[in-house]
Amino acid sequence: MVADDIKKQFIGYLKKKAHRITNERFLILDSAVNMNVHFDADELYLKMKNEYLNVSRATVYKTLELMSECGILTKHNFKGDRTRYETRIGRKMHYHLICTLCSKIFEFENPAIQKIQDKLCRENNLMNVDHTFQVFARCENEKECKFKEAKNISLR
Ligand SMILES: [Zn+2]
Ligand SMILES: [Zn+2]
Repeated sequence: MVADDIKKQFIGYLKKKAHRITNERFLILDSAVNMNVHFDADELYLKMKNEYLNVSRATVYKTLELMSECGILTKHNFKGDRTRYETRIGRKMHYHLICTLCSKIFEFENPAIQKIQDKLCRENNLMNVDHTFQVFARCENEKECKFKEAKNISLR
């Protein structure tokens, strides 16, 4: 189950923005924060359906948006791919390397990246509110690249 403080954070946000607070939304919250990959709305929807959780696709899409607006999820747009989400709960700030052939995602941390942007913001009298850093690359070892198997690309 999702921790109480996360649930409270979400309820607070829904109230503030005058969105309906429904059990369906809490089911989605619970499933989404327990996804341990970069997932898209359809993947979550299908997973929930397989677990016999009764939610509509439209509500899954909408609720994921709300969860990213209130800071529970990070939303990613990797080049040309569908919008992907990942939970922020218990995760450190990290960045992504993506193979452009097989779409495999590697995560890394690097505090220097944060420092550079803070400096850039300060120099321009700006306050840093959000950022993203993505590197598009190719698996060096062709045998390890899943490109051939991944014609209808699935990111993990
Ligand atoms: Zn990630
Ligand atoms: Zn690859």
